[in-house]
Amino acid sequence: MSQALTIEKFTSSEGGSWSNAYLVSGPKEALLFDVFMLRPDTEDLVSKIKATGKTLTHLFISHAHPDHFMGSEVIVEHFPDVKVVSTPNVIGDLNAAGPPILSMLQSKLGPNGPKKLIVPDEIAASKLTVEGEEIEIVEFREGESRHFATLNIPALKSHLASDLVYNEAHCYLAEKRPDAWLDRLNELETFSNGRIHTAYPGHGEPDVPAKLIQKTRDYLTAFQSALGLGDGRAVEQEMLSKFPDYHAKQFLTVFTIPAYFPAK
Ligand SMILES: [Zn+2]
Repeated sequence: MSQALTIEKFTSSEGGSWSNAYLVSGPKEALLFDVFMLRPDTEDLVSKIKATGKTLTHLFISHAHPDHFMGSEVIVEHFPDVKVVSTPNVIGDLNAAGPPILSMLQSKLGPNGPKKLIVPDEIAASKLTVEGEEIEIVEFREGESRHFATLNIPALKSHLASDLVYNEAHCYLAEKRPDAWLDRLNELETFSNGRIHTAYPGHGEPDVPAKLIQKTRDYLTAFQSALGLGDGRAVEQEMLSKFPDYHAKQFLTVFTIPAYFPAK
C-alpha cells in the first residue's frame, strides 16, 4: 500500500521566498499542500500539476503566511473543482491577517500580485484521504506563524511540516517568537521520533527530521544570541556571516530586522 502515494516538491522563485509546495499523488488524484505567493510562480506550478495528468482534489493550506497561501486564487482559476481546505485555527489566522496582507501585496506587486483572498473551507475531520490512503492532520501552535496545520502520511513515514522547520534559508522571525518556535521544535522532535523518516520543510530540501530540527534550532539560537549585539545592522551582519549561503535573505533583512529594530 505504501507505494500508492508519492510526494513531489515544487519550489518558488527566490523573490517568492523560495517556498515549497508539495503534491501528494495517488495513481489518479492529487492533493496540493501549500501554494506560492507570486502569480508567475503559481502559473508555473499549475502547468507542472497539469502535466502530471492527475485530478487535483484538494489544496491544503498550512498557515497564514502569503508565501504559502496567496496563490490559491490561481489554483482555483485553473482547477475550479478543487477544495481549498485548512483547520479552523489557520482559517481564523487567515481571516485576521489575510486582508491587510492582500492589500499590501497588491500595492507592492502590481500584476504579479494577488487579486483576491481565498479563505479555505474548514476541514471537520482530523484525517484526509488521497485515493483511500490516509493522511492525518496534525496541528501545532504558535512559532514562526500563529498556527500550523501539517500533514502526516503514515504509509510513507513522511511529514509535511511546513514552516516548523527550514533547511538552508533564513528563518522568518518578524512575529518575534523564537522561544515559542524552539518549543515547537521540541514537540516536533517528540512527534517525529520513531514515526517519521522524512520531514518536508516549508523552505529547502526535505531530510530526516533530526537534521532539519537541528538546523532550525541552530539558526534560532544564533539569532537570539546575535540580538545581544543590540543594533539592527550588527545583528544582520552577524547572521549573514554565520549563514552566508542561506536562501530567502529578505526574511532577515526586510522583515525580521525591521520588526526587532524599527526605524526611528
Ligand atoms: Zn514560509
